[in-house]
Amino acid sequence: MLNIESVAERVLRDEELSLQEGLELLNLPDTETLRLVDAAWRVRRAAFGDRVKVNVLLNAKSGICAEDCAYCSQAKGADTGIPRYRVLAPDEMVEEAKKAQAAGAQRYCIVLSGRGGTWGEVEHVSEATRRIKAETGLEVCACMGLLLGEEGQAKAQALREAGVDAYNHNLNTHEDHYGNICSTHTYADRVETLTHASQAGMSTCSGVIIGMGESDQQIVKLAMTLRARRADSIPVNFLLPIDGAGLDGHQTTAHFTPWYCLRVLAVFRLFNPRAELRASAGREVHLRSLQPLALLIANSIFLGNYLTEGGQEANADWQMLQDLGLHAASGGAVQAGQTELAAAGAD
Ligand code: SF4
Repeated sequence: MLNIESVAERVLRDEELSLQEGLELLNLPDTETLRLVDAAWRVRRAAFGDRVKVNVLLNAKSGICAEDCAYCSQAKGADTGIPRYRVLAPDEMVEEAKKAQAAGAQRYCIVLSGRGGTWGEVEHVSEATRRIKAETGLEVCACMGLLLGEEGQAKAQALREAGVDAYNHNLNTHEDHYGNICSTHTYADRVETLTHASQAGMSTCSGVIIGMGESDQQIVKLAMTLRARRADSIPVNFLLPIDGAGLDGHQTTAHFTPWYCLRVLAVFRLFNPRAELRASAGREVHLRSLQPLALLIANSIFLGNYLTEGGQEANADWQMLQDLGLHAASGGAVQAGQTELAAAGAD
């Protein structure tokens, strides 16, 4: 049986674990999982100490998407009753950024639904970013779909020149499984988008959604792929079953337990020891009372709501960090009643 303590030592020496070792960790019995959490905590602490990065999402354009991502409540054909609106004006983006800063965020993530941003949308986000950078201390991350071909490269360049620090585009699932969750674009399109974002000088934020019918092997290989691609930040989402979305998430997440979700997070941490690992959508629902342990593995959270689903109250997050003895990287901390966050959300 794998010696979990020596796994942490090896990761700290920058050794990459094997696929077989990743699978063994993912399949540890619940009774051994606390030792795995401790190993992941040692690795997390070596890179990030007691700091937690706090991110706030703005759902800057909702619905109105012709893609068919089966997990998404905004996809073509999804009957989910989510709000549908066109891109917000730069003024509104800046106003929400100021609220995010007041709430203690370090990074502000501007998310637009759709296959890819139009030039008009790129200009909206660029204008907002220039003002946010001038008027707040926030990092800005843009999430606005595919950046393909020369036009995609030019859009990435425009966003970077406006001051956008990072671009989010999740790989979501392993290459072998991608065709089962989406038919309107490919895994290769996603990789090309990340390449263009990175070439333009933006930090890459690329994560996963667990619970879409993927195999254990695919989960571990995805963790290895993100290591190979040197993703700077990795949001790990646990699928929230959404009635009316294309995927029957109630079935594909039926095997989730809090201990299982902790093992998934630990695998991503041990393969990506220096990446900003975010315990993202689904943490409240699937980790339940074990949620605080996730922050001993991950070093980043979204504060407040996700893209189209509610998260726990921001004050509950701050209380959780305080109880754990962790601190926001921004130095932020908010007393009860002081947060006012947009009902926005996480992709
Ligand atoms: S994930 Fe993005 S591209 Fe896919 S359906 Fe949802 S909004 Fe559209």
